[in-house]
Amino acid sequence: MLTSALDILAIAAHRDDVEQTCGGTLLKMAERGHRTGILDLTRGEMGTRGTAEDRAREATEAARLLQVSWREALDIPDGRVENTWENRLKVARVIRQTRPRVVILPYWEGRHPDHYTASKLGFEACFLAGLAKLDVDRAISDEQSAFSQVASAVASVVAGEKQHVPSAAKTDRSRGIGGTIGSRALPGSADPRNAERSSLPDSNRVAYSSSNAGEAPAPHRPFKIIYATLYYDIRPTFVVDISEQFEARFESLMAYKSQFSDQEAGKDIFPARAEIRGRIEAMARFYGMMAGVSYAEPFLQKEVGLVEDVTAIPVKSI
Ligand SMILES: [Zn+2]
Repeated sequence: MLTSALDILAIAAHRDDVEQTCGGTLLKMAERGHRTGILDLTRGEMGTRGTAEDRAREATEAARLLQVSWREALDIPDGRVENTWENRLKVARVIRQTRPRVVILPYWEGRHPDHYTASKLGFEACFLAGLAKLDVDRAISDEQSAFSQVASAVASVVAGEKQHVPSAAKTDRSRGIGGTIGSRALPGSADPRNAERSSLPDSNRVAYSSSNAGEAPAPHRPFKIIYATLYYDIRPTFVVDISEQFEARFESLMAYKSQFSDQEAGKDIFPARAEIRGRIEAMARFYGMMAGVSYAEPFLQKEVGLVEDVTAIPVKSI
């Protein structure tokens, strides 16, 4: 369980996204004494190779290599990351628990819907997390209760029951409320999401405030949000020099053995590894060259840069 706030929290759709887009930066920050963390929104159960359990073990090993202090995975369905109210609340709850100063999100455009959706979902969750009057746990309970009611009503109609069907839009506040949270979510046997949850392992689930006797974490809004742009072809607003961290970052990606050990025909891991390394290295070199260093990771910030001393601005112009 987290005992102190994070300095930096990277949020991504899939396990291994952070390793590919900003792992070197996380390692560099950890080496400088900052507390870093990773929140994966999904668990990889739709992956062609390996199981969600395999990926959980691999993610733990990758986190160790990147020296992150905290890593968890939410139970949002893999391949179905949607910017819903409930998902925003789940991420907002993690932001309140981990209290990062900086949040790293994926860039908001891209090929994979989970990636660009995670970007908007993450941004809006950061906003929600700071709303003083928002009781995140209660809102999640309300949302799940409303869903459960709709499911029950539908089941009744399907079963041909003539009893009064409660209004689907109305939330039943008598259920699931009382200051406790997700871990005591509504029984709602008709709620397919509950069944899905109960079948998932608990090992990589966020331990919802179990250590502070049900007291919800205070509102918190990160100071800074930056976007990791490596998956998308856009000019970054800044890059982080990861020349010293490149090898370790590559090893953290290779920790996902279920994903990367069988990429090509033949049993030998090395051809696949050499191919992946070539690609990863080319990207890091490309962004490194932009700033005159060996290897770098690209980022974008929406805000302008603020400069105190123009003689100290890095990166040569001519
Ligand atoms: Zn991904």
